[in-house]
Amino acid sequence: MVERAESESRKLLGRLRDTMASQAAGQERLDQITHLTADSMGTEVCSIYLFRDDETLELCATQGLNPESVHQTRMKLGEGLVGRVARTGKVVNAADAPSAKGFRYMPETGEEIYSSFLGVPIQRLGEKLGVLVVQSKEAREFSADEVYALEVVAMVLAEMTELGAFVGEGAALRARHTQPVLIRGVTAQEGTAEGHVWLHEPRVVVTNLVADDPVREHARLTEAVENLRVSVDQLLAGASHDTEQVQVLEAYRMFANSKGWMRRMEENIDRGLSAEAAVEKEQSDVRARMLQATDAYLRERLQDLDDLSNRLLRILTGQGHQTGAELPENPILVARNIGPGELLEYGRQLRGIVLEEGSVGSHAAIVARALAIPLVINAKRIQIEALNGDHVMVDGDQGVVHLRPDDTVVSAFRDKMAMQAKAQERYASIRDKPAVTLCGKTIRLDMNAGLMADLPSLESSGAEGVGLFRTELQFLIRSQMPKRTELAALYARVLDAAQSKRVVFRTLDIGSDKVLPYMQAQDEPNPALGWRAIRVGLDKPGVMRMQLQALLRAAHGRPLSIMFPFIAQYEEYTAARAEVDKAIAREKKLGHPLPEKLEIGAMLETPSLAFASKKFYEEVEFLSIGGNDLKQFFFAADRENERVRRRYDTLNVSFLTFIEDIVARCAATNTRLSFCGEDAGRPVEALCLAAIGLQSLSMRPASVGPVKHLLRRCNLDDVRKVIHDARDAGEQSVRPAVMEYLRGLS
Ligand code: PEP
Ligand code: MG
Repeated sequence: MVERAESESRKLLGRLRDTMASQAAGQERLDQITHLTADSMGTEVCSIYLFRDDETLELCATQGLNPESVHQTRMKLGEGLVGRVARTGKVVNAADAPSAKGFRYMPETGEEIYSSFLGVPIQRLGEKLGVLVVQSKEAREFSADEVYALEVVAMVLAEMTELGAFVGEGAALRARHTQPVLIRGVTAQEGTAEGHVWLHEPRVVVTNLVADDPVREHARLTEAVENLRVSVDQLLAGASHDTEQVQVLEAYRMFANSKGWMRRMEENIDRGLSAEAAVEKEQSDVRARMLQATDAYLRERLQDLDDLSNRLLRILTGQGHQTGAELPENPILVARNIGPGELLEYGRQLRGIVLEEGSVGSHAAIVARALAIPLVINAKRIQIEALNGDHVMVDGDQGVVHLRPDDTVVSAFRDKMAMQAKAQERYASIRDKPAVTLCGKTIRLDMNAGLMADLPSLESSGAEGVGLFRTELQFLIRSQMPKRTELAALYARVLDAAQSKRVVFRTLDIGSDKVLPYMQAQDEPNPALGWRAIRVGLDKPGVMRMQLQALLRAAHGRPLSIMFPFIAQYEEYTAARAEVDKAIAREKKLGHPLPEKLEIGAMLETPSLAFASKKFYEEVEFLSIGGNDLKQFFFAADRENERVRRRYDTLNVSFLTFIEDIVARCAATNTRLSFCGEDAGRPVEALCLAAIGLQSLSMRPASVGPVKHLLRRCNLDDVRKVIHDARDAGEQSVRPAVMEYLRGLS
C-alpha cells in the first residue's frame, strides 16, 4: 500500500515537474496543476485559492468547479472550509463537507454536489499564501497518503510562487518581491537611513523539488546531515562555557542525531522529493507544530529545529552568504535577530538595521545605539518580504521600514533626511560652543557611553565628558566573564580616548533587564525590584572588587570617578565605598600608583534615596539621577513594558516637583547633581530639567547637539515660571504650557 502511494506521489510529482519546466504563462500553469492533481488523485475537483490581501482569498484556478467563478469567487479569512484552512493553517479532511463545521455554500461555483473535501494550506516559511482543495462526490475521508500527496503539491505551489511562476498576463498573482511594502515595527535607535538590504541569513530557494533518483537523493541527504553534525560538533567544541550558547548547540546536536527527524526526511525522498525539498517539507511540518505549541520551552526547541533545517538547506543548496561576499552599497542589515558580537563585526559599515524580533533592551539594541545606527525591531514579515539588494528606507524615529518604496515615499523620505542633515549642520556649528542659555546659565552636557565604539562620539558630539559609562555593556556582549587584566586594559583605553575629559564609570549594573549570559539567571517574580546592581555587588563582592581594582589600575595615577548604581539607602553607599577603600589599601600595599584624584558618587534611582538623611547628601561626592529607573518606580510603571512605559509623562507635575525637591536637597548640602536618564537627551525634557535647577545632564551622544541648540535659545527663568504657573493652575503636565512657550520663540 505504502509502495503504491509512493509511486502515485512520485508520478504526480513527475507530472508537476513537467509543468514547472514548461514555458506556459502563470494562469495556464495553475490550470494545469489543478487538472493533473484532480486526475492523479481521482477527484472531480481540484481548486487553488490564493490570498489577494491579508484577509481575502480568491479562487484562482479550478478543475471541476464552474470556470466562470475563477477570479470571481472570494472569501474572507475564516469563512467557509477554505477560509478555515487558511486561518488555522491546518488540514481539513471531511467526508461530508456540507455538514462540517464552518461549511459555506457558494452557489456560483456549483459545488453543491460534492460531498468530500480535503483542503491543505499553501505556505512558505510560515507565510500563508493560499489553500489547495480537492473535492469528490463520493462521501469518503481521504487517506493519510492522499493528504501527504496534496501537501506536497501545496509545497510545490508555494515554491513556484516564490519563484514567480504564476505571474504574467491575466496573472493569478502579482509578482512577488516587486511591490512597495510598508512595515511598522518599534524604534530601538532613532535616525534615518537609506540603502540596500543585506540579509544576515539569506533565504534558501529550492528550485529542484522533484527528483528521479531516490538513491542519489538519499546519499545527498546523508552526506549533508553528516556535514551538519560535524559543523555542530565543531561549534560545540569551540563554544565557551557560555551556558546559553552551549544549551542551544546541544539541542542542535540532539536534533542532528535524531532518528525521527532523519526518518521523516527520508520518507519524503521515497515519495519523490529531492533532498532539499524533503528537508523543507519536514521544516514546514515543524513550523506548523510551532504555531500550535503553547509551551514556551517546546516552541524554543522547535525554533532550534527550524534553524537547524535552514543550516541543512544551506549545505544542500550551497546558498547563503559565502565568505567574502560583498556588502551592497549602504547596507541595511535585515535579520530575525542578531547577537551583539556579530553586529560589532559588521560595525559602522551598516547604515541601518531591521530585525524581525529583538527588544529595546536587547544586546543588539545596545550595540546599535553605541554605533548610532538606526534600528527598527519587531518588523514583522521583513524576512519574508525583503530580498538581498532591495532598496529600503529605515525610519528609526517612527519605527517604520519602507521596502522597495515608490517615488513619492522616496522623495518625502529624502526631504526628511535632508532636513535632518541640515539640523546636523546646525548642531555641528555650535559643537564647540557652551550650552549657555539666554539668561546666562551654563549647563554641562555630557554623554552616556558603554563600549569602546562610543568613544569617538566624545569628539564629534561636543560632549564635555562621559557622565555615565555603563560598564555592564562590556560584560553583556561577551560570552564569558572578562578577566581583571582585560578590564584594566579596556578602562585604560577609555581614559586614553577621553584624553583628560572626565569619565564617570558606573560599576556593574546587572540584573533586571540586564542578564549576563554566563551567570546563573535568577528566577525572580519581579526582576526590576529584585536582586540587581549594587545589591548583587554587595552580596557577591568578588566581581565588584575585581572591577574596582581594574579601574584603579587603569587610572594609573590619573583622576578617577566611580559611581554606584541603584543605591537605595545610605548604608549601601557606605558599604560600597568601604570596598573602594579596601581596594585602595591593597593597591597601595602592592606599590601601584593611586589615582591623582578620586571621586565616588551614587545614582539616585529609587525614591527612597531622595529622602535619605542630610548626612548622606553631605557625604556623597556627587549624585546622578537615573531617571529611567527613578521614573518607573515613581509611577510604578515598568520601563520594559510597552503597554505602560509611556503612560506617564516626565513633564508630569508630580515628577517635576519630586526632582525639584532633590535639587533643593543637593543645593542645601552643596552636593553636585546631574541627570543621566534618557530624558536628559530629549530637548524639551532637558530644558525643563535645566529650568528646575539641573546644571548637568548626560545623554546619548546624538542628543547633545539638539539639546544644546534648544538651551541656547531659551531663558530658563521664563521656562521655570511657565512650569510653576502650570502647576499652580492645577495642570497635570506642564508640557502643553512649555510647548506654547517654545512656539513663541523667534
Ligand atoms: C537610569 O536608570 O536612568 C540609568 C541611567 O540607568 P540604566 O538606564 O542603565 O538603568
Ligand atoms: Mg538605572
